[in-house]
Amino acid sequence: MPAGDGFEAVIGLEVHAQLRTATKIFCACRAEYGARPNSLTCPVCLGLPGALPVLNRRAVDLALRLILAVGGEVQPRSVFARKNYFYPDLPKGYQISQYDRPLGLGGQIAYELDSGEAGHCRLERIHLEEDAGKSLHPEHGEMHTRVDLNRCGVPLAEIVSKPEIHSPQQAHAYLAKLRQILRYTEVCSGDMEKGHLRCDANISVRPLGQESFGTRTELKNMNSFRGVERALRFEVDRQVKVIKGGGTVEAMTLLWDEKKQVAEPMRSKETAMDYRYFPEPDLPELIISKEWLEEVRGTLPELPDARRARLIADYGLRPADASVLTADHEVVDFFEAVMRHTGRARAAANWMQTELLGAVRDSGADFANYPIRPHHIAGLVNEVGSGRISGKMAKTVFAEMVTRADAVLNDADKTLTMEPQSIIHEKGLALISDAAELTPVVDRVLKDFGDEVLAYRRGKTGLLAFFVGQVMKATRGQGDPQTVNRLLKERLDR
Ligand code: ADP
Ligand code: MG
Ligand code: ZN
Repeated sequence: MPAGDGFEAVIGLEVHAQLRTATKIFCACRAEYGARPNSLTCPVCLGLPGALPVLNRRAVDLALRLILAVGGEVQPRSVFARKNYFYPDLPKGYQISQYDRPLGLGGQIAYELDSGEAGHCRLERIHLEEDAGKSLHPEHGEMHTRVDLNRCGVPLAEIVSKPEIHSPQQAHAYLAKLRQILRYTEVCSGDMEKGHLRCDANISVRPLGQESFGTRTELKNMNSFRGVERALRFEVDRQVKVIKGGGTVEAMTLLWDEKKQVAEPMRSKETAMDYRYFPEPDLPELIISKEWLEEVRGTLPELPDARRARLIADYGLRPADASVLTADHEVVDFFEAVMRHTGRARAAANWMQTELLGAVRDSGADFANYPIRPHHIAGLVNEVGSGRISGKMAKTVFAEMVTRADAVLNDADKTLTMEPQSIIHEKGLALISDAAELTPVVDRVLKDFGDEVLAYRRGKTGLLAFFVGQVMKATRGQGDPQTVNRLLKERLDR
């Protein structure tokens, strides 16, 4: 996709995904977000002299699962390496990463743009590394920067793409798909706000048709997919302007400022030479046996694209509905749980999209622990489908379920039931389909509107709707429309 003005953007993304382990990658400290600063540390992750790292098997399992999920090649032997640099939040003075022998090579991410256009980007590599600590910079007139080392040694997978992305929109779609895979496979929470997913972008531009790459810059500090998209747009424009003005793009690292919407130079770009990489002497080669790999392969869940196709095939869902439901694995898990209690797939899909998704989002809870459970939604769908309540009443019932769910979540009342059947009963909402109960109402309406009955019998049959309306009014909307219609017609057409 052209960047405009006869130039093409060339973008490669480096994504750091925090692996969902209980403990850190080289020690037994808990890998937890939000704990008291520096409370989750030990001699290993503090880099005290003599402390030795021991690799966390679970971190490797998760990285392997990711490599398999994106179709990469797991390397039977890979090597940890020291990446040396000085930074206050890096007490060892080096980061243990993988360099020339990463755990995974190749693979690709196939994505879809908002326009529906499909694309893909191949991966260079996926490797394991440890995270650094966090510097807490002064705010509100504080004098000092403080350092929290809880994050030191938290396991990361770094996913490096080939420079095959050619627009900010494609970068966004790539990231969305990668996060979807990370979440489906439960490799990473994908939570960008907590920094569990971070993205650096490398970017260059070249005249359309030119084979060789231009000089690239690196963008850091974006904390949302939209932020990445905006930062890339800014930087493409800047580079094109520099070149058109007769200048040259300088290799450097830029920090995206979301408030100012500009990328500002941070430092000239390091090269591999600057890091003085060498093999980590305290860790052996990482050897992945066939058995280990097969064991991990056995834990791979159905991936997003396959699941979407299956939803369409198995339940007859429309492709657009299937896309919405499979965007998030918790949502599609919930949907399939609903389908264990009802055969009405389209209605269930509809309820989830138009009502439930919004309610869960508003509550701040997630699907897995929202008080309204799949069988409640199925119950509601079945009540409507079987004609026990009208669609309009179902909305009332659902609104009550949401109110109760909020009360449960806020600890106001834990004992409330979400059962639609109970709510219908308690509120007296069920449709009256018992003819014996409806007949007197129908008869009274016909008696009250004698003129209209005459008019109907003379041919103004459109008045049927009027009579139905009157019966509904008399039953406060609870008359079963089918039965009401039948009783009225039996009497009017006599
Ligand atoms: P570094 O060691 O600086 O991180 P890598 O070789 O690991 O460099 O590449 C980092 C990222 O930069 C990769 O995603 C790669 O696709 C991308 N990249 C490489 N060359 C270019 C270029 N000329 N323009 C844009 N992106 C590039
Ligand atoms: Mg890199
Ligand atoms: Zn530790």
